[in-house]
Amino acid sequence: SGSSKYTGIVEDCCCDYETVDSINEEVLHPILQELVTTPFFRYFKVKLWCDCPFWPDDGMCRLRDCSVCECPENEFPEPFKKPFHGLPSDDLICQEGKPQAAVDRTLDSKAFRGWVEIDNPWTYDDETDNAEMTYVNLQLNPERYTGYVGPSARRIWDAIYTENCPKYPTGDFCPEKRVLYKLISGLHSSISVHIASDYLLDEATNLWGQNLELLYERVLRHPDHVKNLYFTFLFVLRAVTKAADYLEQAEYDTGNSEEDLKTHSLVRQLLYNPKLRAACPLPFDEAKLWQGESGPELKQEIQKQFRNISALMDCVGCEKCRLWGKLQVLGLGTALKILFSVDGQNQLNQPLQLQRNEVIALGNLLNRLSESIQFVRETGPAAEKIMERQ
Ligand code: FAD
Repeated sequence: SGSSKYTGIVEDCCCDYETVDSINEEVLHPILQELVTTPFFRYFKVKLWCDCPFWPDDGMCRLRDCSVCECPENEFPEPFKKPFHGLPSDDLICQEGKPQAAVDRTLDSKAFRGWVEIDNPWTYDDETDNAEMTYVNLQLNPERYTGYVGPSARRIWDAIYTENCPKYPTGDFCPEKRVLYKLISGLHSSISVHIASDYLLDEATNLWGQNLELLYERVLRHPDHVKNLYFTFLFVLRAVTKAADYLEQAEYDTGNSEEDLKTHSLVRQLLYNPKLRAACPLPFDEAKLWQGESGPELKQEIQKQFRNISALMDCVGCEKCRLWGKLQVLGLGTALKILFSVDGQNQLNQPLQLQRNEVIALGNLLNRLSESIQFVRETGPAAEKIMERQ
């Protein structure tokens, strides 16, 4: 078993594919699967209202039937109330309205109360006073197939790739830009893997299952998509291990002492795992980047591009996709922050400061990537066999 097609060192990283597969299966995946169910990690604070700064005359969010958006009537400028003619009419099928695209906001009130009662230093910033923020129980909202397809979805990916990580001819692609491209591509692969692993096979009977053809078509067929998934995983893993001392000392209190002790113990198992540290001590070597003459300007440019990508998440016309898009982009942004200083300046000596939500995003992103690697490893060879026979 195993995705034996991939051998050698993951490009731009420091560990090989076989090692990634084994540390994931034996160490990371089991710990992360448990970690994300803990009260600290399962609630994510997010603004789910679509507030797309791009395409001002367009956007699924403005379709009036998209009831999940719960946009107050008076917030609709008059022109948006008219039927929209910009996209083919079947695109008007409201992605938001599909039951599988909607976010379940049911909250475990006990855990929620813990959050309010405890004054956590991580959550004071711009995140506290915003009435549009909601807490979402991620366990009730798995990332999976939602029916979000067509021009609206395609446009977001196109904008991300063409505007923010342009594909340079390989030789001309500086390593820093290649990193950004690969991070996004790896995240895209992971999203596709989750769609394939939990797909609505039959709408009439509400039958969910694996879609191996989709896995093959979107991911396995393109070795780069698979390789970028491994790259992104190692990059995020490096950020987590680099921030180990900070994460070890962080406050995981949610008001449920038994559960919180478990959370802390799992975090410690993840951060200081001897097996992991021996097998892959440096998953990614960030010290090699930004060394050129134009390092500081390049960093600012890439930071701006990443901020654009994060703003694009507000244009995702499917609530659940927006939730996971925002969480995972915040997770990547947190990894970038840990590895490449606090802002675009050379302030590497500044002590690391993370917000609670950033830690939640980082942990959940790492778990998603770990699940994707596990699924590709377990299912990939069989899917390839089936598809290549056809
Ligand atoms: P897409 O996945 O849309 O890909 C578009 C093009 O990008 C491809 O043709 C290819 O040229 C290129 N591409 C594809 N994969 C990669 C890669 N790994 N690296 C580099 N280039 C690549 N749908 C759901 O069902 N559930 C979700 O949770 C979900 N979340 C989403 C989150 C975001 C932020 C976005 C933008 C979309 C999300 N979608 C989700 C939609 C989903 O990603 C696809 O866009 C949709 O299923 C249509 O797929 P497609 O076959 O057109 O190819």
